[in-house]
Amino acid sequence: MNYYSLNKIAPISTFKNSVIKGLAPDKGLYFPESITPLPASFFDTIEHLTNETIAYETIKQFVLPEIPEDDLKQIVSETLSFDFPVVTLTNSISTLELFHGPTMAFKDVGARFMARCLGYFNKENTQEVTVLVATSGDTGGAVAHGFLGVKGVKVVILYPSGKVSDIQEKQLTTLKKNITALEVNGTFDDCQAMVKQAFLDESITNHKQLTSANSINVARWLPQMFYFMFAYKQLKNKHEKLVFSVPSGNFGNICAGMMAQQLGLPVAHFVASNNANKVVTEYLLTKNYEPKPSVQTISNAMDVGNPSNFVRIEAIYNNDFQYLKQHLSSYSFTDTQTINALKELYNEYNYVADPHGAVGYLGAKEYLKERPDSHVVFLETAHPTKFLDVVEATIQENVELPEQILKVMDKKKQSIKISTYEELKSFLLEH
Ligand SMILES: *Cc1c(COP(=O)(O)O)cnc(C)c1O
Repeated sequence: MNYYSLNKIAPISTFKNSVIKGLAPDKGLYFPESITPLPASFFDTIEHLTNETIAYETIKQFVLPEIPEDDLKQIVSETLSFDFPVVTLTNSISTLELFHGPTMAFKDVGARFMARCLGYFNKENTQEVTVLVATSGDTGGAVAHGFLGVKGVKVVILYPSGKVSDIQEKQLTTLKKNITALEVNGTFDDCQAMVKQAFLDESITNHKQLTSANSINVARWLPQMFYFMFAYKQLKNKHEKLVFSVPSGNFGNICAGMMAQQLGLPVAHFVASNNANKVVTEYLLTKNYEPKPSVQTISNAMDVGNPSNFVRIEAIYNNDFQYLKQHLSSYSFTDTQTINALKELYNEYNYVADPHGAVGYLGAKEYLKERPDSHVVFLETAHPTKFLDVVEATIQENVELPEQILKVMDKKKQSIKISTYEELKSFLLEH
Protein backbone atom coordinates (compact mmCIF):
# COMPACT_ATOMS: atom_id res chain seq x y z
CA MET A 1 0.00 0.00 0.00
CA ASN A 2 1.18 3.49 -0.76
CA TYR A 3 0.46 6.49 1.37
CA TYR A 4 0.08 10.15 0.48
CA SER A 5 0.63 13.17 2.65
CA LEU A 6 -2.53 14.99 3.70
CA ASN A 7 -0.70 18.22 2.91
CA LYS A 8 -0.50 16.88 -0.66
CA ILE A 9 2.93 18.31 -1.49
CA ALA A 10 5.26 15.46 -0.51
CA PRO A 11 5.76 12.51 -2.87
CA ILE A 12 3.82 9.27 -2.50
CA SER A 13 5.39 7.01 0.11
CA THR A 14 5.61 3.27 0.67
CA PHE A 15 4.43 1.70 3.95
CA LYS A 16 8.05 1.19 4.93
CA ASN A 17 9.04 4.78 4.26
CA SER A 18 5.93 6.06 6.06
CA VAL A 19 6.75 4.01 9.15
CA ILE A 20 10.40 5.03 9.18
CA LYS A 21 9.71 8.72 8.53
CA GLY A 22 6.57 9.14 10.64
CA LEU A 23 5.65 12.51 9.21
CA ALA A 24 5.87 13.41 5.49
CA PRO A 25 8.48 15.99 4.42
CA ASP A 26 5.72 18.57 3.88
CA LYS A 27 4.74 18.02 7.55
CA GLY A 28 1.55 16.25 6.53
CA LEU A 29 0.25 13.03 8.02
CA TYR A 30 0.39 9.95 5.82
CA PHE A 31 -2.91 8.47 4.67
CA PRO A 32 -3.51 5.29 2.66
CA GLU A 33 -4.07 5.86 -1.07
CA SER A 34 -7.04 3.52 -1.08
CA ILE A 35 -9.30 1.70 1.39
CA THR A 36 -10.92 -1.50 0.14
CA PRO A 37 -13.85 -2.82 2.19
CA LEU A 38 -13.55 -6.38 3.45
CA PRO A 39 -16.00 -8.94 2.03
CA ALA A 40 -19.38 -9.21 3.76
CA SER A 41 -18.54 -12.82 4.61
CA PHE A 42 -15.81 -11.55 6.93
CA PHE A 43 -18.33 -9.73 9.10
CA ASP A 44 -20.91 -12.51 8.78
CA THR A 45 -18.52 -15.07 10.26
CA ILE A 46 -16.34 -12.85 12.46
CA GLU A 47 -17.52 -14.50 15.69
CA HIS A 48 -15.89 -17.73 14.52
CA LEU A 49 -12.52 -16.16 13.74
CA THR A 50 -9.59 -15.82 16.12
CA ASN A 51 -8.42 -12.35 17.08
CA GLU A 52 -5.24 -13.00 15.14
CA THR A 53 -7.12 -13.81 11.95
CA ILE A 54 -9.40 -10.81 12.37
CA ALA A 55 -6.42 -8.53 12.89
CA TYR A 56 -4.48 -9.94 9.98
CA GLU A 57 -7.42 -9.58 7.59
CA THR A 58 -8.02 -6.05 8.84
CA ILE A 59 -4.48 -4.75 8.42
CA LYS A 60 -3.12 -6.72 5.49
CA GLN A 61 -4.09 -4.35 2.67
CA PHE A 62 -2.18 -1.56 4.42
CA VAL A 63 1.05 -3.52 4.85
CA LEU A 64 1.44 -6.26 2.22
CA PRO A 65 3.62 -6.93 0.29
CA GLU A 66 6.30 -4.82 1.94
CA ILE A 67 6.08 -7.12 4.91
CA PRO A 68 5.28 -10.56 3.47
CA GLU A 69 2.27 -12.57 4.62
CA ASP A 70 4.03 -14.91 7.02
CA ASP A 71 6.04 -12.18 8.70
CA LEU A 72 2.95 -10.02 9.06
CA LYS A 73 1.04 -12.92 10.62
CA GLN A 74 3.89 -13.37 13.06
CA ILE A 75 3.91 -9.65 13.94
CA VAL A 76 0.15 -9.64 14.48
CA SER A 77 0.32 -12.71 16.65
CA GLU A 78 3.10 -11.28 18.85
CA THR A 79 1.22 -7.99 19.13
CA LEU A 80 -1.99 -9.57 20.41
CA SER A 81 -0.84 -11.79 23.23
CA PHE A 82 -3.58 -10.66 25.64
CA ASP A 83 -7.38 -10.30 25.86
CA PHE A 84 -9.83 -7.57 24.81
CA PRO A 85 -12.96 -8.40 26.80
CA VAL A 86 -16.28 -6.60 26.54
CA VAL A 87 -18.03 -6.07 29.88
CA THR A 88 -21.74 -5.34 29.59
CA LEU A 89 -23.10 -2.94 32.20
CA THR A 90 -26.68 -2.39 31.03
CA ASN A 91 -28.79 -3.21 28.03
CA SER A 92 -27.52 0.03 26.46
CA ILE A 93 -23.93 0.29 27.69
CA SER A 94 -20.89 -1.95 27.51
CA THR A 95 -17.21 -1.29 27.91
CA LEU A 96 -14.40 -2.72 25.85
CA GLU A 97 -11.38 -3.21 28.09
CA LEU A 98 -8.19 -2.35 26.27
CA PHE A 99 -5.89 -2.43 29.28
CA HIS A 100 -4.80 -6.03 29.53
CA GLY A 101 -1.44 -5.54 27.80
CA PRO A 102 2.01 -5.26 29.37
CA THR A 103 1.69 -1.58 30.37
CA MET A 104 -2.08 -1.78 30.88
CA ALA A 105 -2.73 0.96 28.34
CA PHE A 106 -4.53 0.58 25.06
CA LYS A 107 -1.46 1.98 23.33
CA ASP A 108 0.33 -1.32 23.90
CA VAL A 109 -1.13 -2.74 20.70
CA GLY A 110 -0.05 0.11 18.45
CA ALA A 111 3.37 0.34 20.05
CA ARG A 112 4.03 -3.39 19.82
CA PHE A 113 2.90 -3.55 16.22
CA MET A 114 4.98 -0.56 15.19
CA ALA A 115 8.09 -1.78 17.01
CA ARG A 116 7.89 -5.11 15.22
CA CYS A 117 7.40 -3.45 11.83
CA LEU A 118 10.46 -1.25 12.40
CA GLY A 119 12.38 -4.28 13.62
CA TYR A 120 11.42 -6.10 10.41
CA PHE A 121 12.55 -3.22 8.20
CA ASN A 122 15.75 -2.90 10.15
CA LYS A 123 16.74 -6.44 9.37
CA GLU A 124 17.87 -5.20 5.96
CA ASN A 125 19.05 -1.81 7.08
CA THR A 126 22.09 -1.07 9.15
CA GLN A 127 21.18 2.56 9.87
CA GLU A 128 20.00 3.04 13.39
CA VAL A 129 16.58 4.64 13.89
CA THR A 130 15.76 6.91 16.83
CA VAL A 131 12.14 6.86 17.88
CA LEU A 132 11.31 10.26 19.33
CA VAL A 133 8.04 10.50 21.18
CA ALA A 134 6.16 13.01 23.30
CA THR A 135 3.81 11.54 25.86
CA SER A 136 1.02 12.99 27.95
CA GLY A 137 0.96 9.82 29.99
CA ASP A 138 0.42 6.42 28.51
CA THR A 139 2.19 6.54 25.18
CA GLY A 140 5.61 6.67 26.78
CA GLY A 141 5.27 3.49 28.82
CA ALA A 142 3.63 1.56 26.01
CA VAL A 143 6.23 2.67 23.47
CA ALA A 144 9.12 2.06 25.83
CA HIS A 145 7.94 -1.49 26.53
CA GLY A 146 6.98 -2.16 22.93
CA PHE A 147 10.46 -1.19 21.70
CA LEU A 148 12.53 -2.47 24.59
CA GLY A 149 15.42 -4.46 23.21
CA VAL A 150 14.44 -4.03 19.51
CA LYS A 151 17.69 -4.11 17.59
CA GLY A 152 18.79 -0.96 15.76
CA VAL A 153 16.17 1.22 17.45
CA LYS A 154 16.76 3.81 20.16
CA VAL A 155 13.83 5.38 21.96
CA VAL A 156 13.79 8.91 23.38
CA ILE A 157 10.68 9.85 25.34
CA LEU A 158 9.71 13.39 26.33
CA TYR A 159 7.20 13.77 29.13
CA PRO A 160 5.93 16.81 31.06
CA SER A 161 7.49 16.89 34.51
CA GLY A 162 4.96 16.46 37.31
CA LYS A 163 2.04 15.99 34.91
CA VAL A 164 1.97 12.21 34.58
CA SER A 165 0.96 9.76 37.31
CA ASP A 166 3.62 8.03 39.46
CA ILE A 167 2.96 4.68 37.87
CA GLN A 168 3.13 6.15 34.38
CA GLU A 169 6.40 7.84 35.24
CA LYS A 170 7.88 4.61 36.59
CA GLN A 171 6.84 2.75 33.48
CA LEU A 172 8.75 5.06 31.22
CA THR A 173 11.79 5.90 33.35
CA THR A 174 12.87 2.51 34.67
CA LEU A 175 13.63 0.43 31.62
CA LYS A 176 17.16 1.50 30.57
CA LYS A 177 18.71 -0.47 27.64
CA ASN A 178 17.70 1.36 24.43
CA ILE A 179 15.19 3.65 26.20
CA THR A 180 15.88 7.20 27.53
CA ALA A 181 13.31 9.41 29.29
CA LEU A 182 13.63 13.20 29.03
CA GLU A 183 11.70 15.01 31.74
CA VAL A 184 10.55 18.32 30.30
CA ASN A 185 9.91 21.39 32.38
CA GLY A 186 6.63 22.24 30.58
CA THR A 187 3.32 20.85 29.32
CA PHE A 188 2.54 18.00 26.95
CA ASP A 189 2.04 20.55 24.18
CA ASP A 190 5.59 21.82 24.82
CA CYS A 191 6.88 18.25 24.53
CA GLN A 192 4.94 17.71 21.33
CA ALA A 193 6.16 21.02 19.87
CA MET A 194 9.79 20.10 20.62
CA VAL A 195 9.37 16.73 18.94
CA LYS A 196 7.81 18.33 15.88
CA GLN A 197 10.61 20.86 15.69
CA ALA A 198 13.26 18.14 15.88
CA PHE A 199 11.68 16.30 12.95
CA LEU A 200 11.99 19.44 10.85
CA ASP A 201 15.51 20.33 11.95
CA GLU A 202 17.96 19.32 9.25
CA SER A 203 20.93 19.83 11.52
CA ILE A 204 19.57 16.77 13.34
CA THR A 205 17.92 14.80 10.54
CA ASN A 206 21.02 14.99 8.34
CA HIS A 207 22.80 12.95 11.00
CA LYS A 208 20.04 10.83 12.49
CA GLN A 209 17.08 8.89 11.21
CA LEU A 210 14.30 10.09 13.47
CA THR A 211 10.82 8.64 13.57
CA SER A 212 7.75 9.16 15.71
CA ALA A 213 5.80 6.63 17.70
CA ASN A 214 2.81 8.87 18.29
CA SER A 215 -0.38 7.99 16.52
CA ILE A 216 0.74 10.14 13.60
CA ASN A 217 2.79 7.05 12.64
CA VAL A 218 0.67 4.78 10.44
CA ALA A 219 2.04 1.66 12.14
CA ARG A 220 0.87 2.94 15.53
CA TRP A 221 -2.43 4.26 14.30
CA LEU A 222 -3.81 1.53 12.03
CA PRO A 223 -3.62 -1.50 14.37
CA GLN A 224 -6.10 0.29 16.61
CA MET A 225 -8.73 -0.77 14.06
CA PHE A 226 -8.55 -4.21 15.67
CA TYR A 227 -10.33 -3.07 18.83
CA PHE A 228 -13.50 -2.13 17.03
CA MET A 229 -13.51 -5.44 15.19
CA PHE A 230 -13.02 -7.33 18.47
CA ALA A 231 -15.93 -5.47 20.08
CA TYR A 232 -18.17 -6.27 17.13
CA LYS A 233 -17.16 -9.92 17.30
CA GLN A 234 -18.36 -10.07 20.91
CA LEU A 235 -21.52 -8.00 20.55
CA LYS A 236 -22.90 -8.52 17.06
CA ASN A 237 -25.46 -11.13 18.03
CA LYS A 238 -26.70 -9.17 21.01
CA HIS A 239 -27.21 -5.63 19.80
CA GLU A 240 -28.10 -4.10 16.49
CA LYS A 241 -27.00 -0.52 16.55
CA LEU A 242 -23.46 -0.32 17.85
CA VAL A 243 -22.07 3.06 18.77
CA PHE A 244 -18.55 3.64 20.09
CA SER A 245 -17.74 6.26 22.68
CA VAL A 246 -14.00 6.85 22.53
CA PRO A 247 -12.18 8.90 25.17
CA SER A 248 -10.11 11.04 22.84
CA GLY A 249 -6.94 13.08 23.00
CA ASN A 250 -5.02 13.03 19.74
CA PHE A 251 -8.00 11.30 18.07
CA GLY A 252 -5.91 8.41 16.75
CA ASN A 253 -8.02 5.70 18.36
CA ILE A 254 -11.38 7.02 17.21
CA CYS A 255 -9.96 7.68 13.76
CA ALA A 256 -8.87 4.03 13.57
CA GLY A 257 -12.46 3.08 14.44
CA MET A 258 -13.60 5.16 11.51
CA MET A 259 -11.15 3.30 9.28
CA ALA A 260 -12.67 0.02 10.49
CA GLN A 261 -16.05 1.43 9.51
CA GLN A 262 -14.65 2.19 6.05
CA LEU A 263 -13.65 -1.47 5.85
CA GLY A 264 -17.31 -2.34 6.31
CA LEU A 265 -17.65 -2.70 10.07
CA PRO A 266 -21.28 -1.90 10.92
CA VAL A 267 -20.98 1.06 13.29
CA ALA A 268 -23.98 3.34 13.71
CA HIS A 269 -22.10 6.30 15.13
CA PHE A 270 -18.98 7.52 16.92
CA VAL A 271 -18.85 9.65 20.03
CA ALA A 272 -15.64 11.53 20.80
CA SER A 273 -15.67 11.91 24.57
CA ASN A 274 -13.44 14.70 25.76
CA ASN A 275 -12.32 16.28 28.98
CA ALA A 276 -11.96 20.08 29.20
CA ASN A 277 -9.80 19.97 26.07
CA LYS A 278 -12.67 20.35 23.69
CA VAL A 279 -11.57 21.76 20.36
CA VAL A 280 -13.52 19.08 18.46
CA THR A 281 -16.65 19.39 20.61
CA GLU A 282 -16.67 23.10 19.81
CA TYR A 283 -15.89 22.54 16.15
CA LEU A 284 -18.95 20.36 15.70
CA LEU A 285 -21.05 23.07 17.33
CA THR A 286 -19.59 26.12 15.63
CA LYS A 287 -17.74 24.87 12.51
CA ASN A 288 -14.72 26.80 13.82
CA TYR A 289 -11.65 24.66 14.38
CA GLU A 290 -9.63 26.51 16.98
CA PRO A 291 -6.72 24.68 18.61
CA LYS A 292 -6.05 25.89 22.13
CA PRO A 293 -3.23 25.36 24.63
CA SER A 294 -3.96 22.16 26.55
CA VAL A 295 -5.64 22.28 29.95
CA GLN A 296 -4.55 19.90 32.70
CA THR A 297 -7.18 17.39 33.86
CA ILE A 298 -7.43 14.10 35.77
CA SER A 299 -7.71 12.25 32.46
CA ASN A 300 -4.29 13.52 31.47
CA ALA A 301 -3.67 11.27 28.47
CA MET A 302 -6.36 13.31 26.75
CA ASP A 303 -4.95 16.73 27.61
CA VAL A 304 -4.39 17.68 24.01
CA GLY A 305 -5.17 21.13 22.69
CA ASN A 306 -4.56 20.40 19.01
CA PRO A 307 -5.40 16.78 18.17
CA SER A 308 -3.03 15.65 15.43
CA ASN A 309 -5.26 12.98 13.87
CA PHE A 310 -8.22 15.22 13.27
CA VAL A 311 -7.02 15.91 9.71
CA ARG A 312 -7.26 12.18 9.04
CA ILE A 313 -10.85 12.15 10.27
CA GLU A 314 -11.65 14.99 7.93
CA ALA A 315 -10.06 13.06 5.07
CA ILE A 316 -12.16 9.98 5.84
CA TYR A 317 -15.31 12.08 5.59
CA ASN A 318 -14.18 13.94 2.46
CA ASN A 319 -13.64 17.19 4.33
CA ASP A 320 -17.41 17.53 4.37
CA PHE A 321 -18.64 19.03 7.65
CA GLN A 322 -22.23 17.80 7.36
CA TYR A 323 -21.14 14.30 6.39
CA LEU A 324 -18.76 14.22 9.36
CA LYS A 325 -21.54 15.28 11.70
CA GLN A 326 -23.68 12.35 10.54
CA HIS A 327 -21.00 10.03 11.89
CA LEU A 328 -19.49 11.86 14.82
CA SER A 329 -20.79 13.53 17.97
CA SER A 330 -18.56 14.99 20.63
CA TYR A 331 -19.12 15.97 24.23
CA SER A 332 -16.83 17.50 26.79
CA PHE A 333 -16.87 16.83 30.54
CA THR A 334 -15.33 18.46 33.59
CA ASP A 335 -13.19 16.71 36.19
CA THR A 336 -16.09 16.91 38.65
CA GLN A 337 -18.36 15.10 36.23
CA THR A 338 -15.61 12.53 35.67
CA ILE A 339 -15.26 11.91 39.41
CA ASN A 340 -19.02 11.49 39.73
CA ALA A 341 -18.99 9.05 36.83
CA LEU A 342 -16.27 6.98 38.54
CA LYS A 343 -18.47 6.86 41.66
CA GLU A 344 -21.58 5.97 39.71
CA LEU A 345 -19.84 3.17 37.84
CA TYR A 346 -18.58 1.75 41.10
CA ASN A 347 -21.76 2.15 43.13
CA GLU A 348 -24.26 1.09 40.49
CA TYR A 349 -22.36 -1.53 38.52
CA ASN A 350 -19.52 -2.43 40.85
CA TYR A 351 -17.20 -1.43 38.03
CA VAL A 352 -13.88 0.26 38.77
CA ALA A 353 -13.07 2.52 35.84
CA ASP A 354 -10.18 4.87 35.26
CA PRO A 355 -10.78 8.59 34.59
CA HIS A 356 -10.44 8.17 30.79
CA GLY A 357 -12.95 5.34 30.68
CA ALA A 358 -15.22 7.41 32.93
CA VAL A 359 -15.19 10.21 30.35
CA GLY A 360 -16.10 7.59 27.73
CA TYR A 361 -18.97 6.43 29.94
CA LEU A 362 -20.25 10.00 30.27
CA GLY A 363 -20.16 10.34 26.48
CA ALA A 364 -22.13 7.10 26.14
CA LYS A 365 -24.81 8.35 28.53
CA GLU A 366 -25.05 11.70 26.79
CA TYR A 367 -25.49 10.09 23.39
CA LEU A 368 -28.15 7.73 24.74
CA LYS A 369 -30.26 10.75 25.70
CA GLU A 370 -30.56 11.50 22.00
CA ARG A 371 -30.70 7.93 20.66
CA PRO A 372 -31.93 5.60 23.40
CA ASP A 373 -32.27 2.71 20.94
CA SER A 374 -28.47 2.41 20.60
CA HIS A 375 -25.99 0.18 22.34
CA VAL A 376 -22.95 2.27 23.20
CA VAL A 377 -19.58 0.68 23.85
CA PHE A 378 -17.21 2.97 25.69
CA LEU A 379 -13.54 2.13 25.43
CA GLU A 380 -11.76 1.64 28.73
CA THR A 381 -8.29 2.80 27.69
CA ALA A 382 -6.24 2.38 30.86
CA HIS A 383 -6.31 0.19 33.93
CA PRO A 384 -7.65 2.09 36.98
CA THR A 385 -4.46 1.54 38.98
CA LYS A 386 -2.57 3.76 36.57
CA PHE A 387 -4.54 6.63 38.11
CA LEU A 388 -4.52 5.21 41.59
CA ASP A 389 -4.74 8.44 43.60
CA VAL A 390 -7.86 9.70 41.91
CA VAL A 391 -9.56 6.33 41.70
CA GLU A 392 -8.96 5.27 45.30
CA ALA A 393 -9.91 8.67 46.69
CA THR A 394 -13.12 8.54 44.68
CA ILE A 395 -14.39 5.05 45.34
CA GLN A 396 -12.95 4.98 48.88
CA GLU A 397 -11.53 1.52 48.39
CA ASN A 398 -8.08 0.14 47.77
CA VAL A 399 -7.55 -1.14 44.29
CA GLU A 400 -5.38 -4.20 43.98
CA LEU A 401 -2.23 -3.60 41.96
CA PRO A 402 -1.80 -5.97 39.06
CA GLU A 403 1.46 -7.76 38.53
CA GLN A 404 2.50 -5.60 35.55
CA ILE A 405 2.38 -2.54 37.80
CA LEU A 406 3.95 -4.07 40.91
CA LYS A 407 6.96 -5.03 38.85
CA VAL A 408 7.93 -1.42 38.09
CA MET A 409 7.04 0.30 41.35
CA ASP A 410 10.25 -0.62 43.17
CA LYS A 411 12.55 0.27 40.32
CA LYS A 412 14.52 3.48 40.37
CA LYS A 413 13.46 6.38 38.18
CA GLN A 414 16.07 7.54 35.69
CA SER A 415 15.38 10.66 33.67
CA ILE A 416 17.28 13.58 32.20
CA LYS A 417 15.73 16.99 32.88
CA ILE A 418 15.47 19.46 30.02
CA SER A 419 13.72 22.80 29.55
CA THR A 420 14.47 23.97 26.02
CA TYR A 421 14.58 22.73 22.47
CA GLU A 422 18.33 23.37 22.35
CA GLU A 423 18.81 20.87 25.16
CA LEU A 424 16.82 18.26 23.26
CA LYS A 425 18.90 18.92 20.18
CA SER A 426 22.22 18.54 21.96
CA PHE A 427 21.01 15.33 23.54
CA LEU A 428 20.01 13.87 20.18
CA LEU A 429 23.26 14.89 18.52
CA GLU A 430 25.38 13.50 21.32
CA HIS A 431 23.63 10.15 21.70
C1 LIG B 1 -3.69 8.11 24.61
C2 LIG B 1 -4.84 7.86 25.48
C3 LIG B 1 -6.14 8.30 25.14
C4 LIG B 1 -6.41 9.12 23.90
O1 LIG B 1 -6.23 8.40 22.71
P1 LIG B 1 -6.05 9.17 21.33
O2 LIG B 1 -5.83 8.12 20.31
O3 LIG B 1 -4.86 10.07 21.49
O4 LIG B 1 -7.29 9.95 21.11
C5 LIG B 1 -7.18 7.98 25.98
N1 LIG B 1 -6.98 7.29 27.13
C6 LIG B 1 -5.75 6.87 27.50
C7 LIG B 1 -5.60 6.15 28.78
C8 LIG B 1 -4.65 7.13 26.70
O5 LIG B 1 -3.46 6.72 27.06
